[in-house]
Amino acid sequence: MEITEFDVSLYCSRCQDETLHYVHYLNNKISSTECTNCHRKIDMHLNPKRELYKEIYKRVVTKPTRLTEEYSQDLNKFIVGVPKRALSKPYRLMKYVDETRIALKKFKSHH
Ligand SMILES: [Zn+2]
Repeated sequence: MEITEFDVSLYCSRCQDETLHYVHYLNNKISSTECTNCHRKIDMHLNPKRELYKEIYKRVVTKPTRLTEEYSQDLNKFIVGVPKRALSKPYRLMKYVDETRIALKKFKSHH
């Protein structure tokens, strides 16, 4: 589940002008937009539960997900950057990977 919020200039039919809108994204879909000038809100009526279900379903059906692909790509880059002598010690490498994962988790929970 990914929620993104940002401000963007959009045309408001009530203000009849381009105004700053507060846009709320749910998994790369606009869930709502709000005109910061007149506070006219357009709700796309996305069902968060349904979106979450779809996401989980997609994750189960198409493994690995785009996210884990990106993550493993980063990991590959990381492993490539590790000196060869470190690769002869798989335990250390695994430990490092786990640490990276924990670091990623920590990073995510703060954002
Ligand atoms: Zn407006």
